[in-house]
Amino acid sequence: MIRRSACLTVVALLAQPLSFAAAQPNDAEPATRATNEAFAKTLPLADRAGLDDAQRGLIAPLPGGVVAGGLGGAPAWNLKPYDFLNAEQPSATVNPSLWRQARLNLANGLFQVTDRVYQVRGLDIANVTIVEGDTGLIVTDTTLTVPTAKAALELYYQHRPKKPVVALIYTHSHVDHFGGAGGLITAEDAASGKVKVIAPDGFMDHAVAENVIAGNAMSRRAQFQFGAPLPVGDKGQVDAGLGKALAMGAISLIPPNDTIKQAIETRRIDGVDIEFRLVPESEAPSEMISYYPQFKVLNMAEDTTHTLHNLYTLRGAAIRDGRLWSKYIGEAIDRYGDRTDVVIAQHHWPVWGRDRVVSYLKKQRDLYKFIHDQSVRLLNYGLTPTEIAERLTLPPSLAGDFAARGYYGSVSHNAKAVYQFYLGWYDGNPADLNPLPRAEEAKKEIDYMGGAAAVLARARDDYKAGQYRWVATIASKLVFADPSNKEARALGADALEQLGYQAEAATWRNAYLLGAQELRSGLIKTDAVTVSPDMLKGVSIDLAFDFLAVRLNAAKAEGKHIVVNWTFTEPKQTYTMNLENSALTHVAGRLSDNPDVSVTLNRATFDSISLKQRTFLGAIATGDLWVTGNPLKLRELFGMFDEFSPNFEVIEPVKAKIE
Ligand SMILES: [Zn+2]
Repeated sequence: MIRRSACLTVVALLAQPLSFAAAQPNDAEPATRATNEAFAKTLPLADRAGLDDAQRGLIAPLPGGVVAGGLGGAPAWNLKPYDFLNAEQPSATVNPSLWRQARLNLANGLFQVTDRVYQVRGLDIANVTIVEGDTGLIVTDTTLTVPTAKAALELYYQHRPKKPVVALIYTHSHVDHFGGAGGLITAEDAASGKVKVIAPDGFMDHAVAENVIAGNAMSRRAQFQFGAPLPVGDKGQVDAGLGKALAMGAISLIPPNDTIKQAIETRRIDGVDIEFRLVPESEAPSEMISYYPQFKVLNMAEDTTHTLHNLYTLRGAAIRDGRLWSKYIGEAIDRYGDRTDVVIAQHHWPVWGRDRVVSYLKKQRDLYKFIHDQSVRLLNYGLTPTEIAERLTLPPSLAGDFAARGYYGSVSHNAKAVYQFYLGWYDGNPADLNPLPRAEEAKKEIDYMGGAAAVLARARDDYKAGQYRWVATIASKLVFADPSNKEARALGADALEQLGYQAEAATWRNAYLLGAQELRSGLIKTDAVTVSPDMLKGVSIDLAFDFLAVRLNAAKAEGKHIVVNWTFTEPKQTYTMNLENSALTHVAGRLSDNPDVSVTLNRATFDSISLKQRTFLGAIATGDLWVTGNPLKLRELFGMFDEFSPNFEVIEPVKAKIE
């Protein structure tokens, strides 16, 4: 039933080897060289402050730059392919500002932040923060995977006393912050309370929910955001903006045993005072920052980093509220600014010194507020998303600050996010209300323009003139009009590639270069993966049923009416499920008087059937599942659910036949 979640699928996709030789990438065209050289002159790229902060307090780097134990025998983490970034001078095929960020994100190992506060950075996209209590360790966040979390703790133990982990804090509900928990503590110690596991309100719901319903599409789109199917190199993946990349390996989910529910709550853990401040609906739906008064350390979780973050994330996710995000940073300055000596976060490196801390936080606060307010101002003039994005540029005071530059988010796509947050997908022009679908529209357009050959000839001239944005657009129309047009695919790939070489945002670069790769060589297929038992347990039955419902094939359900009573013995819950009008609904807390079939089972049995570890019939045979009424109705219902595949086309029309 629950077949996969995005987080897990992402990891599986990362593990796919490059199964065919991709067409050789091009070099930078003269127009790209000129653009990148001009770009370099707009920023103080030689500024050492970031480099010094990223290296400050280094105790030891990750031995060999490798963490073993990934999926399928591959390393969970490997920094060696990034050696090309040791050159200070950027390659012509990489935006010079991104080159700088990619070098900073290479910093890795165990770092001392201040007395009793350490971080392990650069073993995944996210950090592990370790605070030394009186007798044990208070660990914040886990990296994405179990092997990288384990390696982080081992690295710490190689250089510091081997004290036990007494508390684990999750800053927020994104998987790169909790997925490695199993490498730090055991589920038993968390369940018994031996290790305190603290999370913000709503953590468990959001930890899984964000990735389930639309998870299949998100996982495919995440390939474009992180560039996992790309080779690492100066013509391929160089960075992810927020860190180098995602680790690949097993993911765990250990539920918290202590939840922060009030806006501000304090705890004393092993002699360490911590003040937690909830910041919900900012970077994540469930998130909190924390302040350590004894050490004058402020941990901003992921609400401030050394990049402009995402109000809209390219893998696809609900829009985040820039106004609220900015407000939380402002409140943090007000509450902690004059008593903070160092600000840390769960990505990137710290900022030391009270004046620098406050200046950094103010710019982060104003960055999100500026984008929010100015986008709203322009939409109130009637401008539409692309027009707002084109017009909006940061004021020099923000644009000159590296931590405000768009390596992960971008001003452009965040401006569009603000529009979507308030006004949605429709730009208000009735001509855009019901246009032809993309492929049909492209066929008409190309026909009106005199046919593919005529369009290609002009597009080639524009390519020579360096007009890559437009060439990418028109080549895509040619491909959607006729996916077998090899010349159009090649030209589109060339244009996307040059856009990738020019992009400052790592996420844009990854998207462009993977688009180019797929235009040239097609997509790299991946096997569907099943959700891990840990993650599945985190899904409420309510959400599991909702996920079944979005898999319902309406054509197969046409004219069918089936009522199923579900009785869960452990935990005790009842549901009536109703299929009618090709829609599957359920009501909790009641059973129908007139069901077609009634099922009694416990949650573990439900999960094992969902994981396809056993079948309904097998569970009936072993007495773990009881059915009364007509069991054929159950089989009929479960025959109506689609199996999603992440192997769908993006740069050309979807090939799968959809009933
Ligand atoms: Zn994160």
